[in-house]
Amino acid sequence: MSSIIFGRSEGTAATERYAGDVASRIHVLGGGLAGCEAAWQIARTGVECTLFEMRPLRSTAAHKTDRLAELVCSNSLKSESENSAPWLLKEELRRLDSMLLHAAQEARVPGGQALTVDREVFAERVSRAIAENPRIELRREEVTRIGDGNITIVATGPLTSGGLAEDIGRITGAERLFFYDSISPIVEADSIDLTTAFRASRYGKSLDGSDDYLNCPFDRGQYERFVDALLAADPVPAHIPEDATPFFEACLPIEELARRGRETLRFGPMKPVGLVDPRTGRRPYAVVQLRQENLRAASYNLVGFQNHMRFGEQGRVFRMIPGLEKAEFLRYGQIHRNTYINGPALLGETLQLRTRPEVFFAGQVSGVEGYVESIATGLLAGRHAAEMAAGETIRPFPRETAIGSLCAYVSGADVTNYQPANITFDLLPQLDEATRHRLRHDKKARHAEVCRRALEKLDEYRAVYA
Ligand SMILES: Cc1cc2nc3c(=O)[nH]c(=O)nc-3n(C[C@H](O)[C@H](O)[C@H](O)COP(=O)(O)OP(=O)(O)OC[C@H]3O[C@@H](n4cnc5c(N)ncnc54)[C@H](O)[C@@H]3O)c2cc1C
Repeated sequence: MSSIIFGRSEGTAATERYAGDVASRIHVLGGGLAGCEAAWQIARTGVECTLFEMRPLRSTAAHKTDRLAELVCSNSLKSESENSAPWLLKEELRRLDSMLLHAAQEARVPGGQALTVDREVFAERVSRAIAENPRIELRREEVTRIGDGNITIVATGPLTSGGLAEDIGRITGAERLFFYDSISPIVEADSIDLTTAFRASRYGKSLDGSDDYLNCPFDRGQYERFVDALLAADPVPAHIPEDATPFFEACLPIEELARRGRETLRFGPMKPVGLVDPRTGRRPYAVVQLRQENLRAASYNLVGFQNHMRFGEQGRVFRMIPGLEKAEFLRYGQIHRNTYINGPALLGETLQLRTRPEVFFAGQVSGVEGYVESIATGLLAGRHAAEMAAGETIRPFPRETAIGSLCAYVSGADVTNYQPANITFDLLPQLDEATRHRLRHDKKARHAEVCRRALEKLDEYRAVYA
């Protein structure tokens, strides 16, 4: 196995130059969505790589075939509706010559506004593109250790095998490696009714001098009806057996808490102690707290509202929360099996480990959520790894792009409450104030402007770096 000598010069981890042997092989661990895109991008730049995939020797709880890039559940790569956030991410990938987006186009089947694919044709196209590429060596082998000598991209996904997960824990610190997602819903800030929700921190203890939370106050009748609706809501069917009851006492789904007793929520995530509704001058009967994240300024997280309900049910039930009657959901809650690292504690915006810049993370294990997000981080890690192998400066993507924003989130979000993200507009930087003001009554036009700006920045980047 060839090895690479890393020689540092001045600069940050993201921009350091590495004197690598161009002929040396980059190791890509995992032949899923992120790994295949990464390997293909590396080869595209003329650098060689080895792609390790453990199937069929060892499978996961979700994969059913030995094909590369198997879509384990839905066959949708989300919306193609122009100027939506999922469309923007795909459009950027297309402009960056993503192999998996090409394969998706070839495998496309009718699916309304969404890019839906025939999963067999998709996996077959990707498998063939990898097999036919002379610069990619495919090895069917389970990797249990991240080696020292090679530039390595870890893209082993949400169901990373046990041995490798242990090694990732050793490198990152076990407390920064998670095995379950416990995601709370997120709503758009300007869809919250601020005549009902009020700003305050419990006992007035704000973290930064501002009132950190928005609080949605319930009276007794509203609370009882809400608990009834929670108890009657349809659960989401489990994707894999481990998803059926993946509950820890520390992050129980709210409907499970409600099942333990009608008062349990009032003493848990909906407790009203330390809060006074300025409109009534009294403590509400119960409260749902909404928290704004530093990198998601235009949205709020429903604190402690991880749950296992169908998305449609979540919309219906959570709009019963006073102040959220017209809420627009950017993300619904989930709890599922998912191996991922605490990206903001560990990674730079180029998806390199800060402590070991020759190790990149991509795909679900890096802390993103979703098929296309996994492809996007694979593309980015592949390009940056190739730049490093060629001894070039690593060139982060512009922050205004969807890809750049996704990586800014993965590397810069709140470390203490880190939750994997899929692409939404609230991850992208806000428009300047004058434009926001000019378009304040036209959300569609604001989104179109964010997309226009992102693609313009991407094209400028491509003009320089191809
Ligand atoms: C059950 C389930 C359902 C999901 N459904 C959806 C959905 O409907 N829509 C959506 O957008 N997202 C979904 N996701 C989330 C996510 O988008 C997908 O899991 C996606 O495939 C992630 O891409 P990836 O490249 O990170 O991982 P994967 O596509 O899983 O690829 C990782 C690869 O690494 C291999 N591997 C693992 N460990 C090792 C090892 N030690 N050595 C060598 N190879 C190894 C695996 O066999 C696999 O082929 C789902 C996730 C799960 C777990």
